[in-house]
Amino acid sequence: MLKYRNISFIGAGSMAEAMISGLINKAGISPERITAANHSNVERRSELINKYDIQAVSFNELSLKNTDVIILAVKPKQAEEVLQQLKPNLQDHHHVILSVLAGISTPFIEEIIGKHLPVIRVMPNTSSMIGESITGISAGKFVKNEDLDLAQELSKAIGKVKIISEKQMDVFTGIAGSGPAYFYYLLEHMEDVAVENGLDREMARDIAAQTLYGASKMVMESDDSPAELRKKVTSPNGTTAAGLDALDENGGGKAIEAAVENAAERSKTLR
Ligand code: NAP
Repeated sequence: MLKYRNISFIGAGSMAEAMISGLINKAGISPERITAANHSNVERRSELINKYDIQAVSFNELSLKNTDVIILAVKPKQAEEVLQQLKPNLQDHHHVILSVLAGISTPFIEEIIGKHLPVIRVMPNTSSMIGESITGISAGKFVKNEDLDLAQELSKAIGKVKIISEKQMDVFTGIAGSGPAYFYYLLEHMEDVAVENGLDREMARDIAAQTLYGASKMVMESDDSPAELRKKVTSPNGTTAAGLDALDENGGGKAIEAAVENAAERSKTLR
């Protein structure tokens, strides 16, 4: 059970913080079981200690002896160097490795560490900051059910979880990892046009955001598909039909598909 494991984060940036916050405030993990290690930012360590009462150290000071779960949360480009440094201290039948690194596959990690350790890829999104992530997890070849349960439990501290395959990770990244930004972009444009047409910005933002939230909740709570919901609210020759016609004429659907595909392609090349 997660509650009785000691967890060390390698990397103490925004993603590590989102998970630390969820683990303490939502999953009820004791702060004394959590350590965050970063490269050189001493102020950041003090900030995390003051805010969460966890341990924060430099990577060189981190001891893996008392660590059960290692969470890799550095930038993808730093993965290889960090894994090489961790390698001599990793122990079979003891450590479980979780990686939140975009674009870094479990076989890549397994190959570098060269041990039969469970490696699980965890792909959260930025909504993890408010406990509303949708997180994809995929298991490496040495992962047992109990390891996957642990990764699920941990990921639920920052939102919802889906178990997917390594192959599905790139498209998952295209939808969920990058997805919040697409919706911000949509809201940005809705807000701008509302302001141009006489609403003040704060009100326009609130209206657009609540509309997105309501539509999202409808999809989650209804048995209808998004297409069925859309058809139900679109009367012939009505305002919604006019809006959707403009979206189609301007390649709205195609643009969204291209965004997801482009992000998924980019995910393949991050390393
Ligand atoms: P970030 O804020 O830039 O944090 C990176 C952290 O890594 C810093 O604490 C940095 O320490 C540390 N670091 C760098 N080199 C290190 C080393 N050699 N040893 C130990 N620590 C080292 O990054 P982030 O936004 O949290 O992203 C972290 C990972 O999460 C990325 O791989 C990203 O792909 C993944 N991810 C992020 C999101 C998201 O929404 N942000 C979503 C999904 C996945 P110093 O500050 O001391 O240099």
